[in-house]
Amino acid sequence: MTEPLFDTLAIIGPGLIGSSIMRAARAQGAVRTIVATSRSPETRRRVVELGIADKVVDTNEQAVKGADLVIVCVPVGVCGEVAKEIAPHLKAGAIVSDVGSVKGSIVRDMGPPLPKTVHFVPAHPVAGTEHSGPDAGFAELFENRWCILTPPEGTDPQAIEKLAAFWRLLGANVECMAADHHDLVLAITSHLPHLIAYTIVGTADELQTVTRSEVLKFSAGGFRDFTRIAASDPVMWRDIFLANKDGVLEMLGRFNEDVAALTKAIRRGDGAALYEHFARTRAIRRGIIEAGQDTAAPDFGRPHSHDD
Ligand code: NAP
Repeated sequence: MTEPLFDTLAIIGPGLIGSSIMRAARAQGAVRTIVATSRSPETRRRVVELGIADKVVDTNEQAVKGADLVIVCVPVGVCGEVAKEIAPHLKAGAIVSDVGSVKGSIVRDMGPPLPKTVHFVPAHPVAGTEHSGPDAGFAELFENRWCILTPPEGTDPQAIEKLAAFWRLLGANVECMAADHHDLVLAITSHLPHLIAYTIVGTADELQTVTRSEVLKFSAGGFRDFTRIAASDPVMWRDIFLANKDGVLEMLGRFNEDVAALTKAIRRGDGAALYEHFARTRAIRRGIIEAGQDTAAPDFGRPHSHDD
């Protein structure tokens, strides 16, 4: 096994993502020591029981003291508060990162309170499931998934490379981009699909003429995948839509125009327009499979995973 990249890793928020990082970092020998903390005593106790950290401490302050890499893994809306809280206790030279699904707001909220003596390198592992908490995590979550780094201008290139090496060791492919660009890309690839899933599941639930048991019984017809996505954590997704308002509204506007065009085609019985649209999207799906981001076969082997 190679030398660990970091001496001490501190994880704040050992939920699905945080605990997966801990498991993967340990499996790969990426760090010597893992310290974790969570706001609730229940989660802290559970992390002790699972044995996935070397040390579980009660406060964020205790967690970051002496840590070389701090990864904040809490909902996007509270990352700024956590940054303020840990700022005075960070070791000089430490790398501070996060895993938030929105990056513009993270750069704006976490960057200013952090001291100039640390390196702030925001990150988003584009991997997840609809499950939450420390029990939901698994070491393979990031394998062959993307991790997008959005370092603010002027960030030390060595710190960026070190965090990139960490994520590569955990199995991810790493790409850097500007935070605002990340938010536009993710608005269409992740945030809008979740919004559609949340909408359609809600719509089905309110129907009077189709019973709930019929919806469940016949859900293989496309609906089942929506219900899985719509089961994702409500706090996390509330924060994503609040934080990526501009990106989501931009993509939603375009989406609404396209729905309107398809609605018109259906109303007019315009089979050619429908066929052309569906043929184009089928080709896109094939492109995704060829890019290795999904398989043609159903994913029975591992816990349901999707890209967030
Ligand atoms: P999770 O499993 O629900 O874990 C969330 C963690 O944050 C828990 O440790 C929780 O502490 C803590 N937390 C929740 N609310 C908090 C608050 N108000 N103040 C302080 N700590 C709080 O969540 P997750 O799915 O790992 O998501 C964590 C982050 O990863 C989010 O920013 C999300 O955008 C990002 N992300 C998620 C996915 C995904 O698919 N789930 C994918 C990529 C990135 P307690 O348990 O002690 O309450």
